[in-house]
Amino acid sequence: MSDAAHSDVIVIGAGLAGLSAAAALSKAGADVKVFERRPYIGGRAYSYEHPALEETIDSQHVVVGCCTNLLDLARQSGMADSIRWYDELVFLEPNGQRTSLRPGKLPAPMHQTLSFLRAPMLRLTDKAAIASGLLRFLRGYPQDDSESFDSWLKRTGQTERAIRHFWEPVVVGALNDTFDRCSVKYAGKVFHESFLRSPEAGRLGVPAAPLSEFFAPIAAMATQAGVDLRLKTGLEFLEPTPEGRWSLRAAGEAFTADSVVLATDFKQTRALLNSLVAEEREKDQLNAGFEAFVPSPITTIHLWYDRDVTGMDHAILLDTRIQWVFAKSRIRRWAKERGSYCELVISASWPELEMGREEILSSALNEFQMFFPAAREAKLVKSSVLKEARATFSVTPGLDRYRQPQTTPWKGLYVAGDWTATDWPSTMEGAVRSGRLAAGAVLGDRKRFMAQELPPTGLMRWLSRAGT
Ligand SMILES: Cc1cc2nc3c(=O)[nH]c(=O)nc-3n(C[C@H](O)[C@H](O)[C@H](O)COP(=O)(O)OP(=O)(O)OC[C@H]3O[C@@H](n4cnc5c(N)ncnc54)[C@H](O)[C@@H]3O)c2cc1C
Repeated sequence: MSDAAHSDVIVIGAGLAGLSAAAALSKAGADVKVFERRPYIGGRAYSYEHPALEETIDSQHVVVGCCTNLLDLARQSGMADSIRWYDELVFLEPNGQRTSLRPGKLPAPMHQTLSFLRAPMLRLTDKAAIASGLLRFLRGYPQDDSESFDSWLKRTGQTERAIRHFWEPVVVGALNDTFDRCSVKYAGKVFHESFLRSPEAGRLGVPAAPLSEFFAPIAAMATQAGVDLRLKTGLEFLEPTPEGRWSLRAAGEAFTADSVVLATDFKQTRALLNSLVAEEREKDQLNAGFEAFVPSPITTIHLWYDRDVTGMDHAILLDTRIQWVFAKSRIRRWAKERGSYCELVISASWPELEMGREEILSSALNEFQMFFPAAREAKLVKSSVLKEARATFSVTPGLDRYRQPQTTPWKGLYVAGDWTATDWPSTMEGAVRSGRLAAGAVLGDRKRFMAQELPPTGLMRWLSRAGT
């Protein structure tokens, strides 16, 4: 085997976890190869050319201001300017009522108080219940993840409308599952970071380009730093060598490395780690941990019209299957003559997994037209439905016990991916954190590549104990 086949580190997977691990390691001077089995980078955060529609499609991904590692990577690679930032969240009801939550002049944690008090989507009793609930996340969120958010809602006396119009749209949108399958720890994190810590931490960022284009600068930065990134190169086999290195086969070629980072999703990682274990008892132990992970689906509906039909960039829809509407043509600043493009998002879309595309489309169109009557008058030029059955994993109560650290029992073998132990739910930020933690672990200094958390502002400087 030639020297060219040997690397300091081989990273498997060019999703955000793998790319961020490779970028960090190569910047630190390591000789790095990345093998990605697909023909594109980005993993689950990808876009593709739809041949029949002649459009580039992706599933809407959003970030929030507290995604410090993803945003740090965006700045380093020069893609930060392609994020459109919004301070305001708009909630729409089927009766046409509109609530806008946005920061005002009061210091954190009261920065949203004025718009919250004015919110027509909630009655006074709902607001009182929400305020008393939010107060519990003022200092932070539980470190123990055993309680479900469902039980917390009951325990804290949340009203039916407070749940339907506030807790549900936020939690299901952010954690992509129903309350019984989300722990209070991660729901509390969402509310502490997005609603209480600082106005900046809760800002909503939307990529203004299709995802593969949006993330291309990270791959470019890594390759400029010397990373050998190989697409259509699936890892087929790996084993430790007697010399304490790793021997791998990918796309029919043999390679060796001092260290390997498996930056693959939990299903693939499980299969790869199983190939290293001979004994049935060890296999059972390994698999028991992975069985705790539940994949959760997201369905998106893509609509192209001959004109603008929303009059706004995005909105949360209440009391419907559709949870969020993104007017992508407005976010991407399309010229008016090009018509408009909207994406409707259904999180935790278990029922839609069983439904046909026509059924999903017609139900979504009915709901969409109810909120945006202009869509009835406009010409629907084309449409598409995209089901992602394994979009995220659910942060089920007690899951933390099974989220592995980035080190493994095998010397020189590391794991990364949103599913590993990061203290974040299944997100791009979680993926980037895991990649950076794995890169740090390879070099013996776990936190070496981690970005600073956003500091709390206002009164939260004294109140918040989370992540400081
Ligand atoms: C529809 C949808 C909407 C989402 N919305 C949001 C959102 O709004 N905000 C947010 O933060 N997150 C969102 N997410 C979640 C986010 O996309 C993921 O958390 C994140 O991209 C995971 O990155 P990762 O690198 O850990 O894993 P992945 O992206 O799964 O990357 C793993 C990579 O490994 C490769 N691979 C696997 N096996 C092999 C092998 N044997 N050899 C070589 N390569 C291999 C895969 O092809 C893949 O590219 C969404 C996800 C989906 C699907």
